[in-house]
Amino acid sequence: MLVLSFPPRLIQEPVTNNLIRQFDLQVNILRARVKPRERGRMVVELQGSKESLEQGLAYLDEHGVEVDPMVQEMRHYDERCVDCTACTAVCPTDALTVDPVSRELIFEPSHCIICESCIPACSYEAIESQF
Ligand code: SF4
Ligand code: SF4
Repeated sequence: MLVLSFPPRLIQEPVTNNLIRQFDLQVNILRARVKPRERGRMVVELQGSKESLEQGLAYLDEHGVEVDPMVQEMRHYDERCVDCTACTAVCPTDALTVDPVSRELIFEPSHCIICESCIPACSYEAIESQF
């Protein structure tokens, strides 16, 4: 899985179609954030032969697309959180717990397995997935 970062001039270009047609790659787009005149970001899963992958990555490089390994993390926004603790019930790893004294939410990123169960549990959009 890779993160592709597109400069604004490439937003309208059929880059992923070219990867499929020209290099016989399977491209599974997992997420995309593309806005006009802004840098676009896309998380993709690329599958194909070693040669096709090398050629496809060279094509992306030649066209100014930055390619990075997928790195994902969860972010907790203290300022939005009301310490309702709803998210702690769905967290399988105790990455989200409650301070027994202050009753405030504690997020421990090192325990998080990025299952994303907490996102729909939070009505205050205080937890987001970042990639
Ligand atoms: S993504 Fe999963 S493991 Fe991480 S804090 Fe949310 S519920 Fe817990
Ligand atoms: S569900 Fe949202 S608002 Fe409630 S404790 Fe968790 S992060 Fe905070």
